[in-house]
Amino acid sequence: MTGMRSPSQPLHIIGAGLAGSEAAWQVANSGIGVVLHEMRPGRMTEAHRTDGLAELVCSNSFRSDDAANNAVGLLHAEMRRLGSLIMRAADANQVPAGGALAVDRDGFSAAVTKALHEHPLIEIRRAEIAGLPPADWRNVIVATGPLTSAPLADAIGALTGEDALAFFDAIAPIVHRDSIDMSIAWFQSRYDKVGPGGTGADYINCPMTQQQYEGFVEALLAGEKTDFKDWETNTPYFDGCLPIEVMAERGRETLRHGPMKPVGLANPRQPAVKAYAIVQLRQDNKLGTLYNMVGFQTKLKHGAQQRVFRGIPGLQQAEFARLGGLHRNTFLNSPKLLDAQLRLRAQPRLRFAGQMTGCEGYVESAGIGLIAGLFAAAEARAEVLVPPPATTALGALLGHITGGHIETIDAGPRSFQPMNINFGLFPPLATPPTRKPDGSRLRGNEKSVAKKQAISARALADLDRWIADGLPVPAAA
Ligand SMILES: Cc1cc2nc3c(=O)[nH]c(=O)nc-3n(C[C@H](O)[C@H](O)[C@H](O)COP(=O)(O)OP(=O)(O)OC[C@H]3O[C@@H](n4cnc5c(N)ncnc54)[C@H](O)[C@@H]3O)c2cc1C
Repeated sequence: MTGMRSPSQPLHIIGAGLAGSEAAWQVANSGIGVVLHEMRPGRMTEAHRTDGLAELVCSNSFRSDDAANNAVGLLHAEMRRLGSLIMRAADANQVPAGGALAVDRDGFSAAVTKALHEHPLIEIRRAEIAGLPPADWRNVIVATGPLTSAPLADAIGALTGEDALAFFDAIAPIVHRDSIDMSIAWFQSRYDKVGPGGTGADYINCPMTQQQYEGFVEALLAGEKTDFKDWETNTPYFDGCLPIEVMAERGRETLRHGPMKPVGLANPRQPAVKAYAIVQLRQDNKLGTLYNMVGFQTKLKHGAQQRVFRGIPGLQQAEFARLGGLHRNTFLNSPKLLDAQLRLRAQPRLRFAGQMTGCEGYVESAGIGLIAGLFAAAEARAEVLVPPPATTALGALLGHITGGHIETIDAGPRSFQPMNINFGLFPPLATPPTRKPDGSRLRGNEKSVAKKQAISARALADLDRWIADGLPVPAAA
């Protein structure tokens, strides 16, 4: 139990990104007043472009929406069951993207902004919190993200006595659709997969011969890169968002097995000729006028990007709505610094959410925002919320962040690294499936598919039980 605090005292949330917006929604729907502090547009980050809440700074994809076979799809499903605003806005603004849930970024952000503005229990204040929050804010969620402004980051660093860990993220370029040469490129989703709102022909594909691919890799390696500042030189990359030229440095064939893999795609103009490599572009806005280069996050200088990327067949005349960029990222050593309710041990009035806690990705950040909001709302009512079971996607992610007492996590608290949700974070099944419903034995890959499906089914059943056991589920507004 926590102190006797009046629910009439507002809860302060700093940062209205993916996590802060979701947290504010959850808290307000629990009947508690929220002051949501957002520094944009008065002060921008290196990656945000707008004053919209929950702005997506890079890709417009929420990744797979397959709740039965994919861990992030499962997280989507759990968040929907908990009345997530981020999922509601994503579902309402989806654009075709094969098996993925991708969104019109402006429509998505506008929907989140509108919902929060219109909520009677939420006040939005546009100002930077430039240091530790005032001492009389007794229940605070800090959700300022990987690009937390320096005065606040420094104050948190001083409070924890730790240097925040840092790594690099890079963002991918966006191209105007009408500048792509469709006499060379074609529409197709990998394996013609039809996803939410998709048609099976949602990506633009630019094919390369072996010679073109080799020339492209050469040009990437030779392209001028952004200089590092002294303090940045030893900062490692996070593998999930490696710049394309860093991937190319790892081996000439690396890209062909990564973002440029040619499998599951066939050029309708030359069905018998197999492309050696393929660059894919995914729809970025509802109008279908902008496409982002999938997996092409980069730290090449702008001039080099235009030159090198216009060497891709189909993109010779490409006009870029945004070029790629490189940004530093920070996160807390959460297993050491945070308690099981995401509060800072050194100052429990401060609770953390989103990417700063060491999860990775839009959906994960929003998911941790959702849980932080429910924890904080319970605390405002002088109650304690039992965390979601470790068998759920939300619980597994929380377990990773707050200590990882699940045996399958290989990175212990001392080597804590940010992570996307994945099936490796879930406790093993007591009895892994060995047979199909008809009684015949599962073989090869069938076993791993059946295992994922069993973990997902267990997660949703356990989440429903957790909700039924007394969690106040926010009413859909
Ligand atoms: C360059 C880059 C590219 C990324 N690309 C992807 C991607 O493609 N796909 C993906 O899934 N994830 C990506 N991520 C990772 C992560 O999912 C996103 O950063 C996500 O937005 C994190 O959510 P968040 O709520 O923690 O932070 P944010 O969404 O960044 O929200 C934090 C908010 O806090 C505000 N703020 C910061 N400091 C203060 C302050 N002192 N006072 C008041 N407000 C403040 C900011 O303006 C911002 O609105 C990327 C991260 C970076 C840095």
